[in-house]
Amino acid sequence: MNETDIPIEWLDGSGETVEIGYLNPNGQQCAGHCGVPGTDHGPYAYKTECTICGYVYGTNGSDMFERHCPECQGGAPGIRYWKINKK
Ligand SMILES: [Zn+2]
Repeated sequence: MNETDIPIEWLDGSGETVEIGYLNPNGQQCAGHCGVPGTDHGPYAYKTECTICGYVYGTNGSDMFERHCPECQGGAPGIRYWKINKK
């Protein structure tokens, strides 16, 4: 079985600002993580959706509560939140 056949499971983080569905004051919504480590102190990179323009990007767990959209709010560029298959 190829690894790409396994559907990605999105998981809640620990803490209310990294739960799936959390909406921060800037309109950025947490969509969970799939086990990819973040680039900051936060243990995971979270998939984040901008509810204003629809942009989807990655956010460190520690930044979720104050994240700004990279596309329409001048926030920092998104980080990788998806898994890369190692061959
Ligand atoms: Zn946006």
